[in-house]
Amino acid sequence: MNPYATMEVDDPLEGLRLRVTLWLLPMGAVAALAAWGFSVVAGVLNPLDRVLLWPMALGFVALEVYLWRNPQRIRQVWKAALALLAVYELSVVYYEAAFFLYRRDGISPALLWFPMVYLTAFVLLNRRQAFRFSLSYLALGLLLGGAGLLSSPVINPTALNTALQFVLSNLAYLMLLYVFASLRRHYAQMHQMAHTDPLTNLTNRRAMQGRLEAELERAQRYRRPFALLLADIDHFKQINDTYGHPVGDQVLREVAARMQQHLRESDALARWGGEEFLILAPETELGPAQGLAQRLLEAVRQAPLAGVPVSLSIGVAAYRLGDTVAALLSRVDEAMYRAKALGRNRVVAEDAPEDIIPAHWPGEGGAGG
Ligand code: GH3
Ligand code: MG
Ligand code: MG
Repeated sequence: MNPYATMEVDDPLEGLRLRVTLWLLPMGAVAALAAWGFSVVAGVLNPLDRVLLWPMALGFVALEVYLWRNPQRIRQVWKAALALLAVYELSVVYYEAAFFLYRRDGISPALLWFPMVYLTAFVLLNRRQAFRFSLSYLALGLLLGGAGLLSSPVINPTALNTALQFVLSNLAYLMLLYVFASLRRHYAQMHQMAHTDPLTNLTNRRAMQGRLEAELERAQRYRRPFALLLADIDHFKQINDTYGHPVGDQVLREVAARMQQHLRESDALARWGGEEFLILAPETELGPAQGLAQRLLEAVRQAPLAGVPVSLSIGVAAYRLGDTVAALLSRVDEAMYRAKALGRNRVVAEDAPEDIIPAHWPGEGGAGG
């Protein structure tokens, strides 16, 4: 199974979310155990807490262990923790209102955690879903609390004040969370815009630069191969001059789409310049990368795009031990220019001298041969 299938690998906050969660779960367990211990010492352990606190604490511990072993299942862990907490808090609201509120001046400490459910929902869900979920949860709490108050032996002003403050403060939390969630959405949109080429919807040069750095680091650390392809549309200026700029734009879109169709999911395609596309092929050595380039070349020239016959010149280069991104880019650029000089509409690989150290040790089972 693909370990990334359930994980948002592109979310830059994923690592932070994981670390925070690994702290939150034990805190939840400690809170539940502390509530149990102090209530026992004070002789006020109520029947609800007697039944629910230990399973809650154990549940949080189990989720922590599970998350340690399966970090990619973080969303499921959050859902389970959310369910545990929501069920407990809703039960407390009812019990509190029905049996305990009239006996004391304040609210049960257990209800300090009530808003935690909103926070969890806003981390887990999108803005609208989270708001809807949180409102339903609060409404359910109010219903249960109201039912509890009705069956309470005494309704006194302190109890009513506590209930009112609880409701109003929770509404205030929710409204502010909505503001934060809107900011987060705005940030995500900005992030998306900063990393996407608006014409082709491909990764832009800035984002690709980051991916190249990351891939180089990975290749160095794990001794893995990877290759770069630089594809430049032939005589594109003529296409613009002959058919007009809007058709030129459409050609760019369709070249991008057709190349994308012929790439693996793990390959990255970016708009590198005006009519230049850069392809990052992980786990690919020079030979197989040339094969890939040839397939892309044929896919693009095999039928007209936006009514225009199009050909590409593609340069190919592969990572070498000790490479830098700049050195690799300059080799792939040079190969592409040689393809142009040799008459265009072809694939040219970088010179690969015999004495070059292979990027990974033979026999380690790299892609291709
Ligand atoms: P060669 O075969 O040597 O690559 O020739 P070429 O005409 O493709 O290369 P040149 O670099 O001379 O011209 C590239 C052209 O691409 C010039 C520029 O106006 C055009 N171009 C760059 N970006 C865009 C764009 O977003 N839309 C359109 N329609 N044209 C673009
Ligand atoms: Mg060109
Ligand atoms: Mg060019």
